[in-house]
Amino acid sequence: MQKKLSFIILGTIFISFALLLIISTVSLRHFGMKNAEEKAEVIAELIQDGLTAHMLSGTMDQRDFFLKKIATSKGVESLWIARGQNVIDQFGKGRNNEIVRDAIDEQVLKNGRIYKNTEETSQHVKLRVTAPYIAKENGNPNCLKCHAAQEGHVLGVVSMVFDLEELRNNGIWTSSIILGFSILIMILVFFIINRSMKPLMGLFDSINFVMKKAQEGDYRRRVRPFGSSPDCQNVRFWINSFFDKLELTLVDIEGSIKKFLSLKSQTDQDLLLEVKNIVHELSDIYQFKRTIEFDEDKEHVYDRIGMILKDVIHLKDFTLVETGKHAIHPTIVFDASTVQRPIDPRCRAMRTKQMVNSNTFTNICGSCSDVCEHYLCIPYLISDDLELLLTMSASSQDEIDKIHEKLPLIQNYIDAARPELVSKNLTEILKISSTTDALTGLYNRKYLDEYIDKALSQAKRNETTYGILMIDIDFFKMVNDTYGHDVGDKALKMLSKILKDNIREADTAFRFGGEEFLVLLYQCEEHMVKTIANKIRLAFEKSPIQSNTNASFYKTLSVGASMFSKDSDSMWKCIKFADIALYAAKDSGRNCVKLFEPAMIENKEMKSDF
Ligand code: GH3
Ligand code: MG
Ligand code: MG
Repeated sequence: MQKKLSFIILGTIFISFALLLIISTVSLRHFGMKNAEEKAEVIAELIQDGLTAHMLSGTMDQRDFFLKKIATSKGVESLWIARGQNVIDQFGKGRNNEIVRDAIDEQVLKNGRIYKNTEETSQHVKLRVTAPYIAKENGNPNCLKCHAAQEGHVLGVVSMVFDLEELRNNGIWTSSIILGFSILIMILVFFIINRSMKPLMGLFDSINFVMKKAQEGDYRRRVRPFGSSPDCQNVRFWINSFFDKLELTLVDIEGSIKKFLSLKSQTDQDLLLEVKNIVHELSDIYQFKRTIEFDEDKEHVYDRIGMILKDVIHLKDFTLVETGKHAIHPTIVFDASTVQRPIDPRCRAMRTKQMVNSNTFTNICGSCSDVCEHYLCIPYLISDDLELLLTMSASSQDEIDKIHEKLPLIQNYIDAARPELVSKNLTEILKISSTTDALTGLYNRKYLDEYIDKALSQAKRNETTYGILMIDIDFFKMVNDTYGHDVGDKALKMLSKILKDNIREADTAFRFGGEEFLVLLYQCEEHMVKTIANKIRLAFEKSPIQSNTNASFYKTLSVGASMFSKDSDSMWKCIKFADIALYAAKDSGRNCVKLFEPAMIENKEMKSDF
């Protein structure tokens, strides 16, 4: 920058002085020439007047002296006069040297216009002036008095050659002096300007460097000291103070945020941009946290985490699996996988509770390697009884590395969701324990009350049908009486297991009360209801019940069945109808299945209840 500016200053000064020199040289020459021409014209007039005076005084024969005197004037190289034809005709040819000498004389004699010309070579500079004498009637004296000529006739010419060499030499000399002075002043001006600009330029270059580095994200550079003027020192002080403050603040913000956010340290990144990104991230995470606080249950939170992983963190192929003490099996809670990936008990991440990365070792996890080549599985411990497993697949090692870089951000979201997941999980555990029967593990009557309302509204919307089974062990009282209450409990547990084993996942079994059980068979045809009921009945009938004395015995059960919504559009009424059918089964000798028929409602009183 400094060099460039010096060059500009020097150039400007040089051009200014060169122009000045050219203008002054041209002016000098112009005025010199003009002066010489004017001098020639004056001499020509003087000669004319002198000759006229000689003529009037009758001393024309002495004109040579006069002409010689003028011809020896300074600068006059030669001088001659030539007579016009009318003068020759009137007074004769005159002296020998008063003849036309060249074409210029002839031309001026003819046209009567003054001729001026400068001839310049490297050796000499000559000015030729040839002036005409024109006859004038009204002049003083009247030319026509003596000359036999008319007004405007050319009487003769006077030609002069001036040597302007001296004039030129003077001009060159003057120009050289001006040039010399110009160069001197030029150097002086350059040094003065350069001296006063140097610190400013140094300061400017240093500010330029500091700003460029700041733009690249390096805020550690400072402006170096230049110049002793207070202005320079102030500018440096303000800029450096600003950068001190900026750097301190950014480092402070970054440090504070890093205390509670897991962030990947990027030393090469612009601190200001990093802080901006962190604040963005923080605000997104805060918003996420605020949103999940109002989510209804754990499943909604999982959904939201899944959406964040997909839309914000841009994971393409992943599943989120919930495991833990209270989850009977690991369950997929969010599935964004392109390849179906069943939960495998061999899962290394689940077993070791360590991150599993396919880039670290080929075929590191047998379960994952069966599905894809590149994978990354991370277990997140949410609480003592709840874990989340994030399994991600990719098409290359590079992609796995890229996903790996996103782990701090994922960790931040999981950390933000942790308190909500813990509390929602606890609520769920409490709810399950209050809605399950401690002896059999089946849902209790309380849960049935809640379930019926939910199932009914869904059933009406989707036109779902339910097969309803009411199951009661035959002569169960005898078991208690004969083998004791413990053995009775064992029989109840056994029946619960038979129920679970013989119904589908969409079906639900409840302990309705005592040794009575209710089963809701989802979307079940009437003939299937009877088949399933008989399957349960036969399974129980064939299952030995162990007594305390190592002996075993067998029991039977009776089943009453009804159909929702064929028998009634009220679920509770259908349950009642199943109960009536159960009574019918008991009445008809037990160990059988009875489907409800309206005829089972015997008396009118009973009918009116429905
Ligand atoms: P039925 O064939 O008519 O059903 O004859 P039953 O003897 O089974 O008669 P009922 O259904 O009235 O008998 C219910 C018995 O179930 C009474 C009670 O002692 C027993 N019971 C109810 N709850 C439990 C329980 O939690 N554990 C045990 N061991 N027995 C229970
Ligand atoms: Mg019974
Ligand atoms: Mg009973």
